[in-house]
Order: sequence, then C-alpha cells, then structure tokens
Amino acid sequence: LVTLEGVQKWYGDLHVLQDINLSIQRGEVLVVIGPSGSGKSTLCRTINRLETIDEGTILVDGQPLPQEGKALAAHRADVGMVFQSFNLFAHKTILENVTLGPIKVRKQPKAEAEQKAKELLDRVGVGHQAAKYPAQLSGGQQQRVAIARALAMDPKVMLFDEPTSALDPEMIKEVLDVMVDLAERGMTMIVVTHEMGFARTAANRVVFMADGAIVEEAEPETFFTNPQSDRAKDFLGKIL
Ligand code: ATP
Ligand code: MG
Repeated sequence: LVTLEGVQKWYGDLHVLQDINLSIQRGEVLVVIGPSGSGKSTLCRTINRLETIDEGTILVDGQPLPQEGKALAAHRADVGMVFQSFNLFAHKTILENVTLGPIKVRKQPKAEAEQKAKELLDRVGVGHQAAKYPAQLSGGQQQRVAIARALAMDPKVMLFDEPTSALDPEMIKEVLDVMVDLAERGMTMIVVTHEMGFARTAANRVVFMADGAIVEEAEPETFFTNPQSDRAKDFLGKIL
C-alpha cells in the first residue's frame, strides 16, 4: 500500500534520509523506532508530503505523490496523520474539528459529516465532549479527537508520530487502546513510538532507524529479544 524506493533527503549537509527502502502492506502495522534525530519524523512527513524528497520514489496505493493542488489535498486526506502535539483547531469545537475536513475536502453534506463525526467520537470515547473546545479537554482526550479527525477522512493509511510522548502516563493507555483497536480493525498504520508494549502487541514489523538509515527490520519479538546491530542493542539497552 505504501512503498518507498531509494528515498534520499538532505537538509543542507545533513543526509537525513539515506536510501530508504520500505514497503507496507495493506492492514500491516509498522512501528518505527530509533534515537532522537534519526529521521523518524522526517520519514513520516515525506509520506504525507509535508517534506519533499531529493531522490527516490514514494508510492501510495500505486500512485506517486502528487506535487501540488487538489491532487495533493486529496492525497493528504488519504494519509491520516497524528502528531505528538495534537494540533487541533483551538477556535473550533471538537465536532467542528472532526467535520471540517470531510465537508471541505471530501465535499460531504454537513449532516452526514456530523453523523459520522459523532460515531467516531463515540468510538474513541469522547462523544460527550463534542460541543467543547480543545482547551477544555485533557491531553489524552485531545489526542483521541485528533485520531477521530484523521479517521473521518476515511484514510487508506494512518501515520502516528510519537502520539503519546506529550501525554501524562495515565493518559497514554487510553490513546494506545484506541490505536490497538484501530489495528485490530485492519487499518494500515505506520507508528513512530517508544511504547514497546504497543510495538509488541500491535506491530507486525519493527523498523529501527539510526542516522537517517534503516539499520534493522524484523518482527517485534525477534527485534526485542535478539537485536542484531550494535546500534539497536545500545538503543534497547537505554530504553528497556
Ligand atoms: P525525535 O526522536 O527527536 O523526534 P526524529 O528521529 O524524529 O527525532 P527528525 O525530526 O526526523 O528526527 O530529524 C532528523 C534530523 O534532521 C535531526 O538532526 C534534525 O535536527 C534535522 N532536521 C529536522 N528538520 C529539519 C529542518 N527543517 N531543517 C534542517 N534540519 C532538520
Ligand atoms: Mg520525531
């Protein structure tokens, strides 16, 4: 469903993505881990074309990423993205946050968008908060709204960039539970996270990045119990 071939990116002298080759099948959950600065966020952002690449190809559902205009807006709608900092629209209600994209980009009638938004908000456990504003919700609740907002666009794939790392410990589980549920429903997901419990239970595959390159790629159990590279051993030694 998502294929990266020979992807290269530089920020000036910094070779931030070094010959990335990666392929994610439909329904697969891929967890990306690695030290700070290894290029995990940059990788996510290129798939959503929030960043351009210098060389290589990225295909989503067999199509190369559009460069601009309506085709790019449609592509972004197909690739749901959830960030560390929830990025909700502060001056819109929770319901409006979720209905805005479907109405503007997908041209859904308002009533239909609201009906679907309410279902999604119920599903992530914040249905009763629909009339409130983001600042009136906890971080965990805001992040679940952000997930509902991405899902409202009927994405083909969901990208999560450290979705729980800005949250207090007691709120992490409620967000991870929503993500596990999504994985069980068959959503194709690319998840940057240091939550090893999530990686072990939900991931089909773990990719370990260091210095802009994919150093290891394995099933979670294999990766956590028997990492091959010194970089991965060192990293796991620090976080586990
Ligand atoms: P973290 O775990 O801290 O989130 P990461 O693996 O997500 O790290 P990236 O955010 O992708 O890492 O950054 C990779 C490298 O690229 C870092 O060295 C960073 O400083 C650099 N970088 C990121 N964005 C830019 C930019 N817009 N311009 C220049 N350098 C950048
Ligand atoms: Mg990052």
